[in-house]
Amino acid sequence: MNKNTLKRCTKCVMPETWSGISFDEDGVCSLCSEFMKKKNKINWKERQKILDKILHKFRRYAKKRNNKYNCIVGYSGGKDTVYTLWAMVRKYKMKPLVVTFDHSFTLSPEAEWNLMEIPKILDCDHLRFSIGNGLRNALCKKTTGIMGDFCWHCHNGVGTFPARISKQWDIPLQIWGEPTAEYQTEGAYKLEDIEEQDEEHYQKVFQAGIKPEMALPKEYAISDLLPMVWPEGNFKLKAIYLGNYEPWDQRKHVEIITKELGWKHNKVEGTYVDWDKVDCPYESVRDWQKFIKRNLGRTTFQASKDVRDGLITRKEALRLVKTLDGKRPKAMDKFINDVGILEEDFNKLTKRHAVIPTNRKE
Ligand SMILES: [Zn+2]
Repeated sequence: MNKNTLKRCTKCVMPETWSGISFDEDGVCSLCSEFMKKKNKINWKERQKILDKILHKFRRYAKKRNNKYNCIVGYSGGKDTVYTLWAMVRKYKMKPLVVTFDHSFTLSPEAEWNLMEIPKILDCDHLRFSIGNGLRNALCKKTTGIMGDFCWHCHNGVGTFPARISKQWDIPLQIWGEPTAEYQTEGAYKLEDIEEQDEEHYQKVFQAGIKPEMALPKEYAISDLLPMVWPEGNFKLKAIYLGNYEPWDQRKHVEIITKELGWKHNKVEGTYVDWDKVDCPYESVRDWQKFIKRNLGRTTFQASKDVRDGLITRKEALRLVKTLDGKRPKAMDKFINDVGILEEDFNKLTKRHAVIPTNRKE
């Protein structure tokens, strides 16, 4: 291996440029090591009992207070939040308030349908919150400049907004789907831990270390960012990931929600599956930013996960990565027009945050 070759895990295809990744002496990455631990150690029956206890406790909490809702499900209409909502209603017989913090970009008709119609099919009440285009665009530009990522407003808001509703509406249980240990290494918990979201966890995982005052565009006041600020003062919140209590099987979930709810999906550019990240029209642009910064795209993640799950070989994964990752997305044309930024400026600002020279190729 010469010095210009990107080092990749010897089991999956995750590269050395992924934030917080480490490799053991056999070249196996920390995500694969986590996966092996999960496979062998987690007692899912035990976890299920813990979940039942938690849900029971919050059903009683709501009943005592005559509250209609006994939990909040943060919802985007993507496969993970749709499955989580389906499971909470149909499998666990909970009464969730569905809360959406919208990224404010125009959705595809399918994604819009998933977002607005599925909660109704499940007979749930749904709160959808969007920020205005001016603030959205100013934040997209500012955070591309300071962190090479235009999605800060969305990633941040999906954590803070439901937390603010939890506090105001006295619904202290929040249910999330996929645990972060499935795909993150830095700032996340390990899979053998049961991950919970509090302010500290939220700052690490959702905010990526960028506080609202740092992201604030100069033409706005901090009060304009209020929905993207963690609620003030002490309040009790139990925010859990369903994937810590039952095995998280993406393909099985897609099958269930398609059959039971008519969930609609269309292929996102740069992926080889047709059900991932359908809830955002600019996911491929974000993947492009990741590629500029870290020389890895969506296929690297999905293919690595599929290798771990035994669905494809490492050789096949490498082939997919070479074919699909690192292509300028077609959605870029619409994105730069929506946000009001020149493509060369967008790329230049993103490149400032590159962790390796971008000409370094395998
Ligand atoms: Zn690996």
